[in-house]
Amino acid sequence: ENFLEDTEHYPVTGKHHDHEVRAEGIQRYDADGKPYPTKNGIHGTKVAIDWEACIADGACMDVCPVTLYEWFLNPGQMGTGNDKNIANDKELWDKYRTDKCDPVRESECIFCMACESVCPTRAIKITP
Ligand code: SF4
Ligand code: ZN
Repeated sequence: ENFLEDTEHYPVTGKHHDHEVRAEGIQRYDADGKPYPTKNGIHGTKVAIDWEACIADGACMDVCPVTLYEWFLNPGQMGTGNDKNIANDKELWDKYRTDKCDPVRESECIFCMACESVCPTRAIKITP
C-alpha cells in the first residue's frame, strides 16, 4: 500500500530542496498497465507528492496551515497536448501545464491531512 516502503520500485533517485525524490526517470506500470510514476518522480517523504499526478491545482497550498508548499514553476513548458493553440486556452493550459506543487519545507508538516484530502487527483500521501 505505502509506495514509500517499496524501495525496489520507488528508489530514491535524487534530492530537491530538503526533500528526497523517488523514482524520477523510471517508468513503472501499475496492475492495470498504467504508467506510474514516470519521469517527474515523487517529491518528499512524509509529505509525498507524485508529480505525475499533480496538475498544479494549488489546493494543497491554499489549505496548508504551515504553508510548506511552494510552486515549482515551469513557465512555457507543457506536457501532453502541447501545440500553439494551448497557450491561449486557459482550460487546456491548466490541464497540460507542467508547473508542480513542491513540499519545500516538509519537515514543518503538522499532519493535519488537509492537503491529502483536498487534492483533486489524490497526488499527495501524508505519512506521519
Ligand atoms: Fe500542510 Fe497539513 Fe498537508 Fe502537512 S498535512 S503539508 S500541515 S496541509
Ligand atoms: Zn521537490
